[in-house]
Amino acid sequence: SGLEEVGELDGAAGTSEVAFKGGSLDVRNLGMAYGDLDVLKGVDLSVKPGSVTCIIGPSGSGKSTLLRGLNRLVEPKSGDIFIDGESTSTMKPETLRRRVGMVFQHFNLFPDHSALENVMLSLTKIKGMPKAEAERIAKARLADVGLESRQHHLPSGLSGGQQQRVAIARALAMEPEVILFDEVTSALDPELVKGVLNLMADLGRRGMTMVVVTHEMGFARRVADQVVFMDEGRVVETGTPEAIFDNPQSPRLQRFLAEVL
Ligand code: ADP
Ligand code: MG
Repeated sequence: SGLEEVGELDGAAGTSEVAFKGGSLDVRNLGMAYGDLDVLKGVDLSVKPGSVTCIIGPSGSGKSTLLRGLNRLVEPKSGDIFIDGESTSTMKPETLRRRVGMVFQHFNLFPDHSALENVMLSLTKIKGMPKAEAERIAKARLADVGLESRQHHLPSGLSGGQQQRVAIARALAMEPEVILFDEVTSALDPELVKGVLNLMADLGRRGMTMVVVTHEMGFARRVADQVVFMDEGRVVETGTPEAIFDNPQSPRLQRFLAEVL
């Protein structure tokens, strides 16, 4: 994942020009633990509406744990998270997850349901939407990610890249204010990575607020509005891609970049 390998990210991956209305995300002094193991030690993060934040850092630094805290798959130990200025501490986890979507490395699609049904299911089950309306929205979101012609395929009949597009369409269908991406191209064959990154860049251009944990430094450099470097459960450095990649301040970030670039 060197800077040169990602190539051009121009050219819209989807056909739709629907604009998204991303919300802001503010993390204040977030602490998270697994039992006695303190993993996040007071993380602060400000994400502007419609911006792309890329989180980089070594394995085990707490990147996934931070995303799990942001949509409360794991309950934070301390601190607070604000969506569009609203504290989420007393928000129901289901409400929070409707507003903050997540896409995972291993897609997490239902294997016995078609692409269309996978997108429809959260609309009918979580939002309680009538089937006809859910189908209309699911078809539009699948078109957004360039999968109109594959809607009746099962996940097993799709490439990894196409499965990840279904997962992204499913997240989009919920009309979230923020979408979290946790290493979503790490499990893909190399030739499928670029298409998914192009799609993500496209969503960013269309106004979605995105927090992207990634090893794709080329993507972070080209697409991110801000890059956050984490190490040992802390945010060590935050800045523009130029500041982070061309002028890293902390020795830890300098060492990390020397290893990955
Ligand atoms: P990253 O995504 O940056 O690789 P993680 O957030 O997955 O880091 O992990 C941070 C730390 O928390 C690591 O030390 C890891 O071993 C630990 N950890 C992660 N998930 C769990 C879990 N479910 N139970 C216990 N420890 C965990
Ligand atoms: Mg991780």
